[in-house]
Amino acid sequence: MKKGFSALLTIGAALVLLAGCSAAPAPADPQAGGANENESQSAEQQTKISVCASFYPMYDFALKIGGDRAEIVNMVPAGIEPHDWEPAAADIAGLEEADLFIYNGAGMEHWADSALAALGNDRLVVVEAARGAVLLEGAPEDEDESGEHEGEGEYDPHVWLSPRSAKLEMENIKEGFAAADPANRDYYEANYSRYAAELDALDREFQETLSPLPRKDIIVAHQAFGYLCAAYGLTQIPIEGLSADSEPDPARMAEIIEFAKERDVEVIFFEELVSPKVAETIAEAIGARTDALNPLEGLSDEETAAGADYFSVMRQNLTALTAALR
Ligand SMILES: [Zn+2]
Repeated sequence: MKKGFSALLTIGAALVLLAGCSAAPAPADPQAGGANENESQSAEQQTKISVCASFYPMYDFALKIGGDRAEIVNMVPAGIEPHDWEPAAADIAGLEEADLFIYNGAGMEHWADSALAALGNDRLVVVEAARGAVLLEGAPEDEDESGEHEGEGEYDPHVWLSPRSAKLEMENIKEGFAAADPANRDYYEANYSRYAAELDALDREFQETLSPLPRKDIIVAHQAFGYLCAAYGLTQIPIEGLSADSEPDPARMAEIIEFAKERDVEVIFFEELVSPKVAETIAEAIGARTDALNPLEGLSDEETAAGADYFSVMRQNLTALTAALR
C-alpha cells in the first residue's frame, strides 16, 4: 500500500505544474503592463495561500472563511458522489504543494489517512473539520466514559447537515486558516463571525419552521441526515446506509414500504447525485410523490451554474421538509 502511494507520488511530481491544488492562478508576469496596479495585484496573488478541500461542503466553508486570501480547490469534481471517490496522482501532487488541507473526517474520506501519511509536505496544515462532533449511528448506547465506542456502530460523517454542527466545522476550518496564514488571522476571524451568525439564523429558521409540524419521519435516499434529525427532533428512515453506494435488498424495500404505509408518508426523498429509481419505486408502491433532499455532498453542474451554496441548498431542503411534514 505504502509502495503504491510512493509510486503515485513519483508520477504526481511530474504533474504538479499541470494540475492539483496550487495550479489555479496563472503566474503574474511583472513585465506585462508595467503599471502600478498590476504590481500590487501580483503582490496580492503571491500572498494567497493554497488550499485543498476534500469535497463540496468543505470547499464552500473554506471559500467563506478564506475569501480573497486563498486559492481553494474542491478535490471532488462537480456532479460526483464523494463517498467512493479516491484521489488521482494529480490530487496527491496538489496536496504536496498545498498550505492547508481541509477534510471532514469521521470516516467520510476513507483515503485521507494513508494519503496524508505518504505526503512529504511538512508545512501542510491539516484540518479535520468534524473534530469534536460525535454522532454514532447503529449503537448509540455503547459509548463508555472515556468517550470511546465499543459497539458495532459507525460514526456518522454527515456533520455539515445540521447548521449547529456546521458552525463547529467552520470554526475548526477558521483555526486552520489562522494556523496556515497567521498574518491574516483577523480577516479569517471576521469571516467566521459573519457566517457563524448566518448559521445561527439558519438554525432558528429550521427550529421555528419544523417544530410545529405534525409529522416527524422522513424517508431518505441514504443515511445522511442523522445530525439534522437529531437537531430538530426528526427521524430518518434511510433506503441505503451511511454511504450512498449500495442497493437496498427486497426485504429492506418491503420494510420501508410497510413503514411508509403505516405512517402515511407522502414524500419519498431522493438526492441529486444518485439515481432516483428506488425512491420512485417505493413512491409508486404507496401512492406517494418524490422530492429532492440534498445531502450537500456535491452540487450538480446546474446548481453550480445557478450560484447555489450551502445556505441556498439548506433553505431548499427546509422548503422540501416543510412540504413533506405538514
Ligand atoms: Zn453521505
